[in-house]
Amino acid sequence: MDVLNNYINGRWTASKESNTADVINPATQQVLGKVPIGKGTSTDVEKAVRAASKAFLDWRNVPVGKRIQPLFHLKQLLEDNKDEIARTITNECGKTFAESKGEMQRAIENVETACGTPTLIQSEFLEDIASGIDEFMIRQPLGVCACIAPFNFPGMIPFWFLPYAIACGNTFVLKPSEKVPLTMMKVFELIDQLDLPDGVVNLVHGGKESVDGLLEHPETKAISFVGSTKIAKYVYSKGSANGKRVQAQGGAKNPVVILPDADLDMSTRIVTDSVYGCAGQRCLAASNIVTVGDDGGSMKEALYEAAKSRNTGYGLEDGVEMGPVITSESRSRVEQLIARGQQEGAKVLLDGRKAKIEGYEEGNFIKPTILEGLPLDGEIVRTEIFGPVMSLIELKTVGEAIDFINAGSYGNMACLFTSSGASARKFRKEVTAGNIGINIGVAAPMAQFPFSGWKESFFGDLHGQGRHAIEFFTQTKVVVERWPKEWSRKF
Ligand code: NAD
Repeated sequence: MDVLNNYINGRWTASKESNTADVINPATQQVLGKVPIGKGTSTDVEKAVRAASKAFLDWRNVPVGKRIQPLFHLKQLLEDNKDEIARTITNECGKTFAESKGEMQRAIENVETACGTPTLIQSEFLEDIASGIDEFMIRQPLGVCACIAPFNFPGMIPFWFLPYAIACGNTFVLKPSEKVPLTMMKVFELIDQLDLPDGVVNLVHGGKESVDGLLEHPETKAISFVGSTKIAKYVYSKGSANGKRVQAQGGAKNPVVILPDADLDMSTRIVTDSVYGCAGQRCLAASNIVTVGDDGGSMKEALYEAAKSRNTGYGLEDGVEMGPVITSESRSRVEQLIARGQQEGAKVLLDGRKAKIEGYEEGNFIKPTILEGLPLDGEIVRTEIFGPVMSLIELKTVGEAIDFINAGSYGNMACLFTSSGASARKFRKEVTAGNIGINIGVAAPMAQFPFSGWKESFFGDLHGQGRHAIEFFTQTKVVVERWPKEWSRKF
């Protein structure tokens, strides 16, 4: 099986590293490819950053209206190839085909939004800020920008950054997750068809060594990272110590609060989708489900029934609603966390461990699981599980629920289900999370808005997507000008 190539300076190039890791279909265990991993990948990074740095000298001078033309073309190519890319996502990442197509739709929307850069990048001008003096601000690109991506959205997450970065006049190096590198290989086959100068967009594979190469290279000016909190902290501290602008999105433990006045059917459907969609491997997956005043237990019952009936299997097959988790290690980790929850005193209402799917017996499947009664001062109630596990928690008031949420270390998302405007207003005002959903289960900001994690879910100032992306990928320059009247020629 061929080893995956890098895409550097407009050409597919073999890695300098001979060591490889297998890219594995998590449902079938079929080896789909071999990705270079090891010390030699830092040489690949060096070549990619050098190419991007050289390309920047000209690309920054291309008018912004011309810089977005390849993005219009890319949007069309992504639309035309959406199903094929989605199939690749399902095969290497495990999510269902419908989820993969939804992911690509979000990627395309970011390309569309970045096409608005000629308007978004405009800045401020104040005539006569002092007598006869004008002042204005312009936004200029930074140089070489890099993205380090996680495994769980191989098709979407690079697009939170790439289209904005290049539309703003930067050049780009992408390092996809070594677990799911094939999706971006497909996307870069499309990028190769664009009318983009060599070196503007580059792809390098690898793991820690290529990340360190990007963090250490003097020509890398900005780093966009998405992944676990542990690595986000590492990337943020090392990158900023090396003088780079860094935005680092980390892990999550997302609470959803259901009040007694919520619509039972709607809440049940949306909340179970949020917990079990993408097998719980979304950074916006609901994890702690807090019911308030569910005295008769009807909400608990409805959630249980919806979880139990969810169909788990290979994501390319019809009727499958949930795929496997990414690796066998990940499956063991999630199963161990469920056991730890039991040891802490929780009851396993629904146990999806050791799931066997007919025809896919070797797959990393865990069926929907529900834990009830986790102690609120325990470890598991605050641990990111990143698997199809719902923790049911009962509290008495919306105020108690807000206190519980705010005591958590993560701040990626918090959602409320209610028909009360006053409760919704209190919740959105007081909760310390960056993305809030009201009667929404996955409060993923659309491309025009920043993906606004807080606390241990985000390190940095400016987030991905929308206007934040334009600000992140540009530096401001302020000009103060005096043109004395006496210098005017008498025409
Ligand atoms: P991860 O942190 O293991 O890997 C992310 C990237 O970091 C990969 O490209 C990987 O190669 C690299 N990496 C891994 N170990 C490294 C090391 N020691 N040094 C340097 N680089 C290293 O994350 P993952 O498992 O791929 O993704 C899942 C995590 O990402 C979850 O915690 C999830 O919540 C989080 N996530 C967050 C968001 C968000 O927007 N906040 C979005 C998606 C995923």
